[in-house]
Amino acid sequence: MAANPLIDSRDMRFVLFEALQVDRLTSFETFSMFDREMFESTLDLAEKIAVERVYPANRAGDRTGARYDPATKNVTVPEEFKQAMAIFNEAGFTGLGNDPEWGGTGMPETVYRAVMEYFFAASVAFTINVSLLVGATNLVKNFAPDEQKKLYLEKMMSGAWGGTMCLTEPDAGSDVGALKTKAVKQADGTYLITGQKIFISAGENDLYEDIIHPVLARIEGDPPGTKGISIFLVPKYFANPDGTLGTRNDLVCTGIEHKMGIKGSPTCALSFGDNGACVGYLMGGEREGMKIMFQMMNEARLDVAQQGLAVASSAYSHAATYAKNRVQGAAPSEKGGKPVPAAIVKHPDVKRMLLWMKSQVEAMRMLTLLAAYSTDIMHSAGGEEAKEARALLDFLIPICKAGNTDLAWLVTAEAIQVYGGYGYCADYPVEQLARDSKILSLYEGTNGIQSMDLVMRKLLMNPGIYNYSVFKKRIFETLERARGAVDTAYISEVDRAVRMMDETVAILSKYRDAGDMEEIFARATTLQQCFRMLAHAWMHLWALSLCAPRLMEIAGEISGEKPAAAAKENPEAAFYYGKVLSSKYYLGTEFKKYFGLIESVMSGERAVTEAFDDVFTGVLEA
Ligand SMILES: Cc1cc2nc3c(=O)[nH]c(=O)nc-3n(C[C@H](O)[C@H](O)[C@H](O)COP(=O)(O)OP(=O)(O)OC[C@H]3O[C@@H](n4cnc5c(N)ncnc54)[C@H](O)[C@@H]3O)c2cc1C
Repeated sequence: MAANPLIDSRDMRFVLFEALQVDRLTSFETFSMFDREMFESTLDLAEKIAVERVYPANRAGDRTGARYDPATKNVTVPEEFKQAMAIFNEAGFTGLGNDPEWGGTGMPETVYRAVMEYFFAASVAFTINVSLLVGATNLVKNFAPDEQKKLYLEKMMSGAWGGTMCLTEPDAGSDVGALKTKAVKQADGTYLITGQKIFISAGENDLYEDIIHPVLARIEGDPPGTKGISIFLVPKYFANPDGTLGTRNDLVCTGIEHKMGIKGSPTCALSFGDNGACVGYLMGGEREGMKIMFQMMNEARLDVAQQGLAVASSAYSHAATYAKNRVQGAAPSEKGGKPVPAAIVKHPDVKRMLLWMKSQVEAMRMLTLLAAYSTDIMHSAGGEEAKEARALLDFLIPICKAGNTDLAWLVTAEAIQVYGGYGYCADYPVEQLARDSKILSLYEGTNGIQSMDLVMRKLLMNPGIYNYSVFKKRIFETLERARGAVDTAYISEVDRAVRMMDETVAILSKYRDAGDMEEIFARATTLQQCFRMLAHAWMHLWALSLCAPRLMEIAGEISGEKPAAAAKENPEAAFYYGKVLSSKYYLGTEFKKYFGLIESVMSGERAVTEAFDDVFTGVLEA
């Protein structure tokens, strides 16, 4: 296989098998047909196809982009995407995590997510077609009428037919409740849909024979706002009873966006019912659209979190490789003697950038896979374990979605910095990664909306603040396990950080009790960043408590000359030494920023809430 320029597969295996111990899942009935070997071979195959088939298509996709033909109203995706998708589907990856009853493989969510990390790292523009399809498939499986399940599900799970998510309208972005798309019930129980949707990823394309659109709309006469929303299955083509494609439904693509990144992915404006004949099938009950979407949200948000992690991982891997090969200046250790040209990786400032990127990527990977693992436990284990897993998952979702995607933008920017001027040029891959990463903080609920979800629904309005108590409990378990294996300074720093978070939650609860929501919202994003840092410190402490003893076993010491010498000869020593340094860097330097940040949340400063429109426009008018 070609060298993997995208993901540290050894680190992925570390998270899956040494930290999370996913093999344990095979003891549950649901996953009893699998074993570790099957997980490993699935990951190997994913890595191979991602690196050899999908990754080469990514750059081509960026250069060619998706194209719209106004005459036919058809959309063409880059040819390379079609070839890669055929291979992806042949390998059975679309249905990997889905129900065997409908043709899926039924693998644990944790393994499915790890597989998807490879593909997102290879190309976000290509792989979002898959995540949208999987999301739509789950909606059809859980909520569509039986007749539609029989007609559409197997084709969707095999990847022959595609799927989308149609929420956004010109006046309904973050405020989904403002949507205007209308549904009128027909005598046969179907609905006629009319309205405009915008920004619909893969809304029209030639990757799939048919496209199944879950569409949010309001049934005529239903109340305004989110309460009156229902969800409909609207196929591009109807399916014949024998499973072949039938007649075309009344919906067209009226254009696609010209974007900063993910150019191979068509972002479509769709018009439903221009001829009064767009038929939709109700999923779930009337006015249950938002309830149903909420059930799907964790999945969709974890998807985007993974996109952030994967792009950051790819940017870091590229930067590390580049830094080892680019010779510029002399290494400081050579100063004084005869200057020896050095690869830039020898310069302390470049090492700092790389270690910062590495420590962010590793923490994101561990936290995101922990969230996926919590999904598996929630569905497979019973009792208290499942209850806690659900609470932890709910709490981690906005942290992973907003945290990973904010970091993706920062990590890709740092990768450009490592490359110097070359990084800014299109001949090198990192500028595309930066452009592709920016959308991630915007779609699937902007990161501002994620932060409000975290601080309100998941924290302050959560009965008994249960989610947060589970999160803390798990951190304290890690602190206990780390004792003896890890420097106590790191342990007490994380302990202190949790106490400060407790104080902050108490302060925010007072704002809540006083009904001063504006003060809470003004602090939501900063608090979300604090939670991300605390969660990442937790991950690094956990990793350190596993890696330090392993390094000790191999090299006899965890710092100094011995592990450095061992790392030069033994790839396993190099891996654990790298992990130890990454965690020490995070806990010993990066995490210091947490304390300043959380003080800013606790501060009584009211400048944000006191600011009003004219404060901003006044400056422009002066
Ligand atoms: C490339 C791309 C692909 C997309 N794919 C899809 C798709 O497949 N399906 C789909 O349905 N949609 C899709 N979208 C739409 C995307 O989800 C929306 O753009 C997003 O929800 C934000 O809505 P908006 O753009 O209208 O921004 P706005 O809602 O106008 O937000 C603008 C700013 O105001 C902030 N803001 C808004 N309301 C509040 C509030 N109440 N409190 C605090 N801050 C607030 C936001 O955080 C943001 O910073 C896609 C968009 C793009 C660009």
